[in-house]
Amino acid sequence: MRSKAADRIMSETGKGHVAVVGGGLVGPLLAVMMSRAGYDVDVYERRPDLRKTTISGGRSINLALAERGIYALASAGLIERVKPLLIPMAGRLLHPLGQATEFTPYGQWPGEVIFSASRSILNQVLLAAADESPRVRLFFEHECVGIDVQHQTLQIREPSSKQITHVNYERVIGTDGANSAVRSAIVAAGGGEWRHEPLHHDYKELTIPAGSSGTHLMMRDALHIWPRHGFMLIALPNLDGSFTVTLFLNKEGTPSFAELTDATSVNRFFDEYFPDAKGLVPDLADEFFRNPTGALGTVRCSCWSAGERALLLGDAAHGVVPFHGQGMNAGFEDCREWMEVLESTNHNWHEAIEQFTIRRIPQANAIADLALENYVTMRDSVLDPHFQLKRQIGFVLERRFRDRFIPLYSMVMFHHEIPYATARRRGQIQDQILDQLTAHIDRLEDVDWPLAEQLVVRTLSQLPIESVTLGDFAASAV
Ligand code: FAD
Repeated sequence: MRSKAADRIMSETGKGHVAVVGGGLVGPLLAVMMSRAGYDVDVYERRPDLRKTTISGGRSINLALAERGIYALASAGLIERVKPLLIPMAGRLLHPLGQATEFTPYGQWPGEVIFSASRSILNQVLLAAADESPRVRLFFEHECVGIDVQHQTLQIREPSSKQITHVNYERVIGTDGANSAVRSAIVAAGGGEWRHEPLHHDYKELTIPAGSSGTHLMMRDALHIWPRHGFMLIALPNLDGSFTVTLFLNKEGTPSFAELTDATSVNRFFDEYFPDAKGLVPDLADEFFRNPTGALGTVRCSCWSAGERALLLGDAAHGVVPFHGQGMNAGFEDCREWMEVLESTNHNWHEAIEQFTIRRIPQANAIADLALENYVTMRDSVLDPHFQLKRQIGFVLERRFRDRFIPLYSMVMFHHEIPYATARRRGQIQDQILDQLTAHIDRLEDVDWPLAEQLVVRTLSQLPIESVTLGDFAASAV
């Protein structure tokens, strides 16, 4: 049987045809960008159309959008559509055990905030934008079950027919997520390898519902963290007044998911470690066992392409753990940078793929490492007075040397013009400076500022900093 997916009428005017496998967060944004550049795009998505059904698929319900993602959305002309979905989070609200909560801002300049957004609504907005383009066709419930890179064919299965259709492609881009079906074939044909590094921690999502008349029961404009040394709970606000709460915890050991086997153990665990949050989650144990436990891991690929006709973007190329809130942001940045390279090479795919992957793979590896490192920061370090002193000094140094010293978190979250790998390298140098400055002190007043200046100027070159693009945007979204 012939699928309508195979019936693409060849356009004579465009730049060619691209099959995009995966209509999650990255696929539709890519489709919008590529169609605007003159390509005809077919998107194959295995799930039903999100705009007509409600499926969470066990994935996180909301996520943090930051400057890199916003910059990419703006470059696709989509930012005004996304703005109404966003709740600004200006900092972390820490919930230490048995003590008062404590707010620590993420940045110190206007607009240095991140935003909570609903994954499914964001996906719907992106799909709708792609759907509006006459150059884009969306095929839902079309699962790619294989790819023959040599003969340029996709094997597509439609649940309605259960048959597999062979669809020829001119070019293909895999955006089918961390468990990508097209990755192995593309990476093997490109002469590279990929690996999945599982994390020893899983996650579970829970809900703090809205209070009466839709109010948020905790501070709305913050990302809430309950750091517990070795594990943590976080919560992000939703527009309807609820919070999505996520527990990150070891798979095995004490405490661990393996120990949370019944309502008694779950209630006891929350009573012991998260008593304030427990009071806000009704039917805690029911929800705990109803919701799936998600696995986390890092996907690293040494090669994202096969020749000039097959490429991977987003989680398919670089799955990262969620602790820097950058997986989607990095995927959106992939799209923006890919379009920049396509333009600058005058759509010579051979050159574009080469330049893009040389530029981008090191960045993906850097954010993968940064995300793993930030887990330790979030669950362990944030309450440590030494860490807090270093943070304070970092902000002072940023005020004094704005084009040289920018705290690591700010480089990653608020500066798209600083590549991830540069941020990580400079972050390590900055950390050494801060360690040296705080070796024998525990108060800001005792910092040796002349030494600080000497260290900064000697070890950190000037950065070509763009003014933060979020300034006006954040102000108008708040
Ligand atoms: P996906 O969003 O996974 O989309 C892939 C799509 O491909 C899906 O629609 C899927 O159905 C489809 N598909 C899969 N296989 C096939 C196939 N064979 N054929 C056809 N279609 C297929 N990132 C952030 O930036 N900020 C955050 O705060 C954040 N929080 C997170 C919290 C958690 C708990 C997790 C797990 C992740 C988080 N992320 C966050 C990461 C973010 O979810 C991913 O980086 C992002 O979803 C990647 O987008 P993608 O389009 O590449 O992949």
